[in-house]
Amino acid sequence: MVAHRFVEALCERDPEGDWHVTVLGDEGRLPYDRVALTSFFSGVSPTDLTLGGADGGPTLASDPRVTVLPDARATAVHRGSRTVTSAHGVHPYDSLVLATGSTAAVPPFEGTDLPGVFVYRTLDDVAALQAWVSARTEHLARTGDDRPLRGAVVGGGLLGLEAAGALRALGAQSTVVEFADRLMALQVDAGGGESLRRLITGLGIDVRTSTATSALLTDEPVFADPTLTRGAPVSRMRFASGDEIDVDVVVLATGIRPRDELAWAAGLERGPRGGVVVDSTCRTADPDVWAIGEVACIEGGCVGLVAPGNTMAEIVADQLLGGDSQYAGTDLSTKLKLLGVDVASFGDAFATTPGALEVVYADPIGGTYKKLVMSDDAKVLLGGVLVGDASAYASLRPMVGRELGADPAAYLVPEGAGGGVPSTDLPDDVVVCSCNNVTAGTVRQSVKDGAASMGEVKACTKAGATCGSCIPLVSKIVDVELRRSGVVVSKALCEHFGMSRSQLFDAVRVTGLRTFSEIIARHGSTVPLSADDTSRGCIICKPVVASILSSLDLGHVLDEDQGHLQDTNDHLMANMQKDGSYSVIPRVPGGEITPEKLLTIAEVARDYGLYTRITGGQRIAMFGARIEQLPDIWRRLVDAGFESGQAYGKSLRTVKSCVGSTWCRFGVQDSAALAIKLEMRYRGVRSPHKFKVGVSGCARECAEARGKDIGVIATLKGWNLYVGGNGGFTPRHADLLAEDLSEAELYQAIDRFLMYYIRTAERLQRTAAWVQEVDGGLDGVKQVIFEDSLGICSDLDAAMSTHVERYEDEWASTLEDPEKLSRFASFVNAPKEADPDLAYIPVRGQVRPAAADERTSETIARTPLGARP
Ligand SMILES: Cc1cc2nc3c(=O)[nH]c(=O)nc-3n(C[C@H](O)[C@H](O)[C@H](O)COP(=O)(O)OP(=O)(O)OC[C@H]3O[C@@H](n4cnc5c(N)ncnc54)[C@H](O)[C@@H]3O)c2cc1C
Ligand code: SF4
Repeated sequence: MVAHRFVEALCERDPEGDWHVTVLGDEGRLPYDRVALTSFFSGVSPTDLTLGGADGGPTLASDPRVTVLPDARATAVHRGSRTVTSAHGVHPYDSLVLATGSTAAVPPFEGTDLPGVFVYRTLDDVAALQAWVSARTEHLARTGDDRPLRGAVVGGGLLGLEAAGALRALGAQSTVVEFADRLMALQVDAGGGESLRRLITGLGIDVRTSTATSALLTDEPVFADPTLTRGAPVSRMRFASGDEIDVDVVVLATGIRPRDELAWAAGLERGPRGGVVVDSTCRTADPDVWAIGEVACIEGGCVGLVAPGNTMAEIVADQLLGGDSQYAGTDLSTKLKLLGVDVASFGDAFATTPGALEVVYADPIGGTYKKLVMSDDAKVLLGGVLVGDASAYASLRPMVGRELGADPAAYLVPEGAGGGVPSTDLPDDVVVCSCNNVTAGTVRQSVKDGAASMGEVKACTKAGATCGSCIPLVSKIVDVELRRSGVVVSKALCEHFGMSRSQLFDAVRVTGLRTFSEIIARHGSTVPLSADDTSRGCIICKPVVASILSSLDLGHVLDEDQGHLQDTNDHLMANMQKDGSYSVIPRVPGGEITPEKLLTIAEVARDYGLYTRITGGQRIAMFGARIEQLPDIWRRLVDAGFESGQAYGKSLRTVKSCVGSTWCRFGVQDSAALAIKLEMRYRGVRSPHKFKVGVSGCARECAEARGKDIGVIATLKGWNLYVGGNGGFTPRHADLLAEDLSEAELYQAIDRFLMYYIRTAERLQRTAAWVQEVDGGLDGVKQVIFEDSLGICSDLDAAMSTHVERYEDEWASTLEDPEKLSRFASFVNAPKEADPDLAYIPVRGQVRPAAADERTSETIARTPLGARP
C-alpha cells in the first residue's frame, strides 16, 4: 500500500520530473487497499479495491514514468551493482525503496498447516477463506448435517475482530480466542474491554479471553474438493487448559512479521524485533536504500498501521526530490472497522503520562464507555478510549497534545442526548486525516480553491480516503468553510449518498428497491473518489437504509440483506444491558394487562431468574436474559399473546395513558382505550428516531402527554393534539397542533404527522428538533397536514394504511425462521451453555449484575437466582 503512496507522492510533487520508477510486487495484481480487505465479504470486488481506480489509476499505470510489475517478486538486492533481481529480470536503480510490508505471523503450535486454517492478510487469503467456507458448508448440506459451520479466530486484536465479523458475514459461527484478559488489549483499557466484549457478543460472536490456544487438531476424514486443498481438515481447537472446541475453519490473527529477508540478505541492519533499520528520513545505512511502511524499523520498532507508512512514503518522496522532511513520531490511533461496533483509541489511551487525569463516561444501558485522558491541570488532551460510540474520535484525535478549550465531559455526552462535540475551529496545522497526513488548513485551502463537497475535497486532498474515520470531522470543516464562502451547504447523508436522508427515503419509496446493494448502486454518490467508494457503505448510511426499508415495510429487520445493516440492539431485537445480558420487554398497550398475562410474565421471569421492573412507559421489563435464552423466552410470551415491545428500535416505544373517564372522576374521555388503539395502530413504525406518545383523560395531564413526541389531551369536545415534545437532556413541551379533534380526525392527523416526519426528518432527528427545522416550522406542518399544501396527504394516508395492514410482530415471525433463530447463541459450540462472565448478586429478593470487584464474592451466582438449571 505505501509503495503506491510513495509513487503518488512523487507524481504529485514533481509532475514534470525526469525520473522513472519500477514497482515490483509479488502479488498477482495491482496495488490494492489492504485496509478495506474485509469489505471483500460484503461484495466489494478485488477490482474495486484496486488503489487509484480499476486500471491502477492515473498516477500509476497511466503515467509513462511508472512501470508496475505484478507477479514480480524481488529475489535479491545487489547493493554493489545497485540492481534488484526478479523473475522479470535485473532492474538497475539509483535509489531503492523497500516497501515489502509484513506477513501474517503464524503461532508456533501444532496444526497451523491443516486445511481449513487461514491467515488474513491478502486478497488471496480472503478469497481462499471464502471458498473454504462455502465448500465446507455445501459439504455439510450434502451429508445432511444442518448445523452452521463452526469458525474460530485466534487473536482478539483489531484484525481478529474483523476476521470474526467476516466469518459471521459468511454465515459461519464465530469464536474469538484471546490470550490477554480482554479484546483489543493494546488499544483499550479494562473498562473499554468490558464494553467491547458485550458489543462483540451482542453480534453473536463468542469471546474467550485469558485463553491460550495450544493446538489445532484433526480427526475428520480427508476432505477432497477439486477447488481446494485435499487432506484431513482442522476439526478441533485445543486450549492450554486442556479444553477443546470443535471447529471447521480457523483464522490466525496473531500479529505480523516484517518481510525484511531481502534487506537482511543484502547486509542491511535488522531491528531488534525485525524490520529494516532506518533513520528519521527513512534512509537505511546505505544512502541509496530507503525503507517505508511496515517493513521499516523506525525509532526502534515497526508499526503495523497505514498512516505512519504513508507519512514515511511522503518523506522519502520529498527527500528524493531534494526536501528535508523528517519523521516526527508515530501516532498509534486506531478505529475498529466492524459494523455495529464502534471502538477507537488514540494518544495516551492508558494514561501513562505522569499526573494524567482520566475523565470517564460509562452508559451500561446504552452500551458505551468513553474515557478522555487529560493533563494534570485537565486542560490538555493526552488520549482516550471510545467504545460503543466513537463519533467523537474524528474531532478528538487531532486535538491530542492541545488544549481542549471546553469541559472534557462535554465531548463524552452522547450527541442524540443533547450533548455532542462542541464545535471547534481547529487550528490550520492540526492533522485531521492521519492516514494521509492532511491538515485542517489543507482541507480549508481545498475549499477556497474550488472544491465544493466532501467528495471533491477527498479527491483532491485524500482526506478520508483510507480508513474513513475522519470523514465526520472533515465534512464539518468543509461545511463551515463552504458556508463562510457563501455556498449553500449540502445535506448529503454521508460520503456514499449525495442526498439527505429524506431525499434518499423518497428515492427508495419511488423505486421500490429492496436491498442495500441495489440502493447504493442506483443512488450512491455521483462524485465517488473511486469505484469502491460507492459500494461499501458506512456506519452512517447502512443503518439509515435499514431503517428506511423498515419504515416502508420492505421486509423484516433480520432479513438477509437488512440483518447486517442493523444496529446491535435491532440485530438481536433486545437491548443489551450493562453485563452483556439482554432485556425482554413485551408490548403492554396502554399499560393494561390481564391477570393471565401477568402470570405468564411472572412464570417466565421466575423460570429464567430475570429481574423484573415496571417501566416508566407502563410495561414490565425483564432483565438478565442471555442471548440463547431469548428465543425460548419469546416463544412463551408470544404463545401467551404478547408481542415485541420494540424497546430496542427507532420506532414507537409506548403510548402512556392515565385511566381516563372509565375510572377517574375528572376524566372527560376514555384515554386508556384511545391509548391502546393508538399503540396498536402505530406499533412497528420505524422512524428516524424513537418516538413516544401520551394520552391524558383531562387537562390535569396525569400521563404527561406534552412531554411526548405526540401528546393527546382529552377535551369536552374531543381531543387536543400536541407534537414535538420530549424529555431527556433537552426537555421540551409539545406544541398544540390541533384542537377538539374527533377520534377519526385524530388518527388522520397523527398518521400524516408521523409519515411526514418519517419522510423528511434527518438521521437521528427527534420530532422536537424536526418541528423546529422543517420547512415553515409548526405552521408549515399544519399546512401540510390540514390544508394539503404539498398535495401529499393521500399519499401519507395510504402509506400509514399499508403499514397498519402489513404489520407483523418481529419476534413471532423470527420464531418461525430457523435461519434467523441461529443468530441467538452465546457460545456457538455450546448454544445452551451459560456465559460464565454473567454473574449476579441478590438484591431485594431479585438479582442484579455483579460489579467487577464483586465477582469473587461468596454471594455470587453464575446464573440468576431461581433460574432453572
Ligand atoms: C484486514 C486488514 C485490515 C487492516 N486495517 C487497518 C486499519 O484499519 N488501519 C490501519 O492503519 N491499518 C490497517 N491494516 C494494516 C495496513 O494494511 C498496513 O499497515 C499497510 O498495508 C502497510 O503497507 P505496506 O505497504 O507497508 O505493506 P503491504 O500493504 O503489505 O504491501 C507490501 C507489498 O509488498 C509485497 N512484497 C513483499 N515482499 C516482496 C518482494 N520480495 N518482492 C515483491 N513484492 C514484495 C507484498 O506482497 C505486498 O503486496 C490492516 C491490514 C489488514 C490485513
Ligand atoms: S389526566 Fe385527568 S382523567 Fe386522567 S387520571 Fe389525571 S385527572 Fe384523571
